[in-house]
Amino acid sequence: MKINFIKAKTILVKSKLPASDRVINPYNGCLFGCMYCYAAQIGRWKHPDEEWGSYLDVKINAAELLKNELKKLYKRLKTRNFGSIFFSSVTDPYLGLESKYQLTRKCLGVLVDFNYQGEVSILTKSPLVLRDVDFFKKIKKTEIGMTITSLNDQVSRFLEVKAPAVSLRFQALEKLSKEGLSTYAFVGPILPYLVNKEKEIKNILDKLESIGVKKVWFEHLNLNKKN
Ligand code: SF4
Repeated sequence: MKINFIKAKTILVKSKLPASDRVINPYNGCLFGCMYCYAAQIGRWKHPDEEWGSYLDVKINAAELLKNELKKLYKRLKTRNFGSIFFSSVTDPYLGLESKYQLTRKCLGVLVDFNYQGEVSILTKSPLVLRDVDFFKKIKKTEIGMTITSLNDQVSRFLEVKAPAVSLRFQALEKLSKEGLSTYAFVGPILPYLVNKEKEIKNILDKLESIGVKKVWFEHLNLNKKN
């Protein structure tokens, strides 16, 4: 595993994703190294010779940069709401080393201090997200999501080798819901032969409903050869 400490030029980036206006990636790369990850393709621009999941760029100036960018936007737009902010599109904001470097937590702290008025949305595969419940409760509107690929730890262990097992994600979602936070599940990719049966999808939805999750996104499997 190769860890690079870098200074990013920008951190609050306009998003091309359908449900978010801006995105924050405190890291480049992701050590969970999921087999189906579309971000692997993006990572190849900067790390053409390295395997996805074997490197991580740690943006050491992420929080400081965010503070400055929020200030500049406020000066220009005279509002504390720049739309929905999503953590993260090309990394997992709660990958294991986040417990050490705490870049996601520091960025959330900046948003709290700024009294951010827009929505902050999180998507992760890790129960480490529970660490930041204090900040989520201080932000005006938050939504915390977990990627759910199946009901079976063996399937998640096979496809998302270094990510926390899916059973731990369900447990984390339940705890977040019990804390009164708005939660969602990102069910995807829908895996041919593994979870694309109607009954399996229904079982996932039933389980999500039983733990207080009210919103679900679905995504098909990306079979782009470049991945
Ligand atoms: S956790 Fe997300 S960003 Fe990380 S490898 Fe898996 S799909 Fe990609």
